[in-house]
Amino acid sequence: MKAIQVNELGGPEQMQLQDVPDPTPAANEALIEIKVSGVNFIDVYFRKGLYKAPLPMIPGSEASGIVRAVGGEVNNVKPGDRVAYAMARGSYAELQAVPANLLVKLPDHVTFEQAAAAMLQGMTAHYLTHATFPVQAGQTVLVHAAAGGAGALIVQMAKMLGARVFGTAGSPEKLDIARAAGCDEVINYRTQDFEAEVKRLTDGTGVHAIYDSVGESTFLKGLNVIRPRGMMVLFGQSSGPVAPIDPNILNPKGSLFLTRPSLGHYTATTEELDRLAGDVLNWIAAGKLHLRIDHTYPLADAAQAHRDLESRKTAGKLLLAV
Ligand code: NDP
Repeated sequence: MKAIQVNELGGPEQMQLQDVPDPTPAANEALIEIKVSGVNFIDVYFRKGLYKAPLPMIPGSEASGIVRAVGGEVNNVKPGDRVAYAMARGSYAELQAVPANLLVKLPDHVTFEQAAAAMLQGMTAHYLTHATFPVQAGQTVLVHAAAGGAGALIVQMAKMLGARVFGTAGSPEKLDIARAAGCDEVINYRTQDFEAEVKRLTDGTGVHAIYDSVGESTFLKGLNVIRPRGMMVLFGQSSGPVAPIDPNILNPKGSLFLTRPSLGHYTATTEELDRLAGDVLNWIAAGKLHLRIDHTYPLADAAQAHRDLESRKTAGKLLLAV
């Protein structure tokens, strides 16, 4: 099969389209013929070595496709089923052997493109807004990178739950996208001081929670605009990892809560995975949740997709058509 392979850690140029042996599914796995693969920041972290994986490595953590074969212990899917999955590395490829317990069957009315765009960032937005800091009607939350893949979905779900939502983004065009996603207030954090803006918009009270995927450049300032007993949900690091902090700083800032969650811990059981994926796919099918596909690249152009993602050019989802 053809696959994008990383033989050495480094820049996007390390991702080459190569011929590699077809995978064989283990007893608990299904062999998936991939139709569309999602591009996520986590793929960049594996390529650079910030997250560790043995080399050579096929990047990619999310895809949709058709089951072609199943291992002897698999009974939740069968050959011919349309499926999607997240958090199984190796999706920048024509075929992948995937643990069957990660697979979700696709409703007929959800396309391969929608499914590959929704699984990882959609389920992330779901657990962050419904479980990590469950948004209640009337609360105010701040979403950083609100025009981003995960960000715009968090904005939509927080609005569904009745919140007042502030969003930051890095350009006038992205502010328009964040507003279209549902933000009540938008802040260009490259030209405005988001701390001062949030204080102004809340008459100094601050927000109930921040969903922060940006990390290094936003984290510490964010702690200054969370109201007492509010929560900092640090779930990413697109600007770089946050430096270690003294937990005691959470006290004078208002007995704040801090968490650093991951999707895998919120979809650890089949019941959780099916519920989150089911909600996300059903909301898409019902037109309640809107996906913004920024660009679909051929598999061979995965390196360009990474360049675009890392250079802050994109707003929404990047896909690889396999
Ligand atoms: P995005 O689509 O949000 O793309 C990243 C965005 O971050 C950029 O478009 C840019 O938006 C903003 N940004 C701010 N500073 C920088 C910078 N220095 N370099 C690059 N981008 C910057 O990506 P994703 O939605 O795929 O992921 C966002 C983060 O969330 C990643 O760190 C990812 O790993 C994490 N994540 C975590 C999950 C979890 O469960 N913990 C699950 C899913 C994602 P702007 O121009 O508007 O500033």
